[in-house]
Amino acid sequence: MTRTTADVTFLRGYNQALVMAVGRTARTFERSTVVGATGLTPQAVSKVIARLTADGLIRPAGVRRPGIGKPAVVYELVPDSRYAIGAHVARRTLRLVLVDLAGTVHHSAVSPLPGDFTPEQLLDALRSGIDAIPGIDDLRGRLTGVGIGMIGPLDHAHGLVRDAHGLRHWHDVPLREIAEAHLGLPVHLDKDVTAGITAEAWRHGGTFGDAVLIMVESGIGGGFWLRGTAHRGAHTNAGEFGHTVVELDGPLCVCGRHGCLEIVHNRAAEAGDIERAARVLAIGVVNLLQTLDLAHVVLAGADLLRHAQPYLAAVEEAVHSDVPRADWLSTDVRLSSLGADVIAAGAAMQVLDKHFGLPDLAPL
Ligand SMILES: [Zn+2]
Repeated sequence: MTRTTADVTFLRGYNQALVMAVGRTARTFERSTVVGATGLTPQAVSKVIARLTADGLIRPAGVRRPGIGKPAVVYELVPDSRYAIGAHVARRTLRLVLVDLAGTVHHSAVSPLPGDFTPEQLLDALRSGIDAIPGIDDLRGRLTGVGIGMIGPLDHAHGLVRDAHGLRHWHDVPLREIAEAHLGLPVHLDKDVTAGITAEAWRHGGTFGDAVLIMVESGIGGGFWLRGTAHRGAHTNAGEFGHTVVELDGPLCVCGRHGCLEIVHNRAAEAGDIERAARVLAIGVVNLLQTLDLAHVVLAGADLLRHAQPYLAAVEEAVHSDVPRADWLSTDVRLSSLGADVIAAGAAMQVLDKHFGLPDLAPL
């Protein structure tokens, strides 16, 4: 096989992504930090650092003078050099956030969506919501794109919403394409839960792997981060965790099956029995742990966070007492570190990852 210019471009982009990943993880870094973390040669790192500095993505932040040897230039990421907008499309609401290159959320606003909203209504809400972000006009030149985390089932690879449960106007809608045309910005479309677990991976860094983000918000979904990367599955539809059956001959679910985790949970929640709803969710979580052997469980979603303590307690209890050999199969359970912003923020981080990082990989 002969090397082509495409390989060189890829390699350059890859090396750049490695350096950006270090910059995002460490507050400050030197050339030698990057060499140690990435295995790139000092010469290659110097070239990438020069290019990123010229692009304004990183900047010198002083000089370190070691006892012996030459002084070393210290660099840092320039957080306000680039931004991305993240959108969380739920059945009743649209949440928009503005996230900088370092992953800090600068603005967050939630607005109601019309009942059974159409694609056109969502596009209008996206545009007016983006226009309403304070200072947005000054940021236009530094906007990388818009990430949309949406309820599924959806096809991430082709940017299609297949059949959003409970929304009649969303059958095979090419949302990525029509949103790009409507907004005039690159758009990244993913399942809400996959966007959410990306945000958690950004915040936890390289040690974060084999994790799930469980979201309870109208429906129930699970976003997976396996072996240090987002897991979407063969058709990019992984995560329909709420539609796994926990009760044979149980109530009819919105997906057409009977006794799904989601409908059994929702019935309990609607009856005001949060303790039982939390217990149903916890059983589902244990099923997941038994299947995938996960190290981290992150709990999120508006309906769950409204009763955060009972849910956290039920899942922790089940993880410790229902998993055989829980002494050995230890799992960390926690609430999302970004609260209600986690999906939108993760969608924005996916856009930044795509342009300036290693897509779907945790920081080094
Ligand atoms: Zn179902």
